[in-house]
Amino acid sequence: MSVFDHPEFDQHESLHFVQDPQSGLKAIVAIHSTALGPAAGGCRRWQYTSDSAALTDALRLSRGMTYKNAVAGLKFGGGKSVILAADAAPKSPELFRAFGRVIEGLGGKYVTAEDVGCSVDDMRYVKEETSYVSGLPKSGDSAGGDPSPLTAYGCFLGIQSATRARLGTDSLNDVRIAVQGVGHVGLHLCELLHEAGAKLVVADVNRDNLQLARDALPVTEVSPAELLYSDVDVLAPCALGNILTSQTIPKLKAKIVAGAANNQLATEADGARLAERDILYAPDYVINAGGIINVAHEYYGSSSEEKVRAEVARIPGRLDLIFAEAKTTNQPTNIIADELARRIVAGGGAESPVAA
Ligand code: NAD
Repeated sequence: MSVFDHPEFDQHESLHFVQDPQSGLKAIVAIHSTALGPAAGGCRRWQYTSDSAALTDALRLSRGMTYKNAVAGLKFGGGKSVILAADAAPKSPELFRAFGRVIEGLGGKYVTAEDVGCSVDDMRYVKEETSYVSGLPKSGDSAGGDPSPLTAYGCFLGIQSATRARLGTDSLNDVRIAVQGVGHVGLHLCELLHEAGAKLVVADVNRDNLQLARDALPVTEVSPAELLYSDVDVLAPCALGNILTSQTIPKLKAKIVAGAANNQLATEADGARLAERDILYAPDYVINAGGIINVAHEYYGSSSEEKVRAEVARIPGRLDLIFAEAKTTNQPTNIIADELARRIVAGGGAESPVAA
């Protein structure tokens, strides 16, 4: 198939297929848009079943980053990189240095950070070769470090926005919430939800991560296959994407879907499927922007953690606007969010995405 005919190709500015035999690096960097600034988005290292699956992920995720950064009001365009882990070398400092040289070669058009399968430590090796990297170890009170706690904080506030709109209350006391994936973001989110009185149901395919959650919090554990269909008020996807499909949506019991995972909807039409069932969907790239807000403040070197938290606290205001417009216009929330993002990009970032 021609890349230009790929169903997920959306006028991406450039795609870079890279291999470094010495380190074993095999990666794709997708730059969707630099209209609002350098294309920013994390680096995912994953065992893709095929090169084609990796390309699909890079294309979708990079476009999502354009939308995420626009709605978050950041001076960033959208990009994403994926490292193909299945048939390439294991993680090593040299692999990430080679990746850093690739990023340096793009001359600042793309800024990377950690995503699934990569860590703050990995980014330190990237940093040895390029300055176009963020999500590095933090020093003192400055912004930076692992972005997941800020992503979780934004999701927590976003879940309150969603319960306010759908259940008529933002108290999470005794609200039943199913969290799919208790990794970096999911576990932090569970801690915040537990403190707010929510009753947690969790699943993870990784036994170690599940054990950490069990040790830290009172959670009800179910199998990964059951989690989506739990009898809960809120489903919070915090694992991988493509989980909301024509097959899964009819079986959901939750009234709200609001969580950190990118690309939760398999297709745009799945947003309408949720709306038809009166399930309120918090568009993923709006609710999960806390991490990239942290990354942006670190990259531009201008902020303290306190300022970043204040910026992340604007996420529920954006969701409130999207939920209200979806209700008034009788359109799915994902469509409202996509239109907002495209308007912001087309207007060069002039439109404010934030409630007054
Ligand atoms: P992570 O790898 O630390 O955690 C993901 C967890 O999901 C892991 O524990 C994994 O075992 C589990 N998992 C995978 N498949 C599963 C399944 N089918 N059922 C149950 N559990 C499953 O990743 P993370 O950094 O916590 O990110 C989670 C999601 O949030 C990803 O989609 C990521 O792109 C998105 N996201 C993360 C950030 C961030 O700051 N880390 C920011 C924005 C979006």
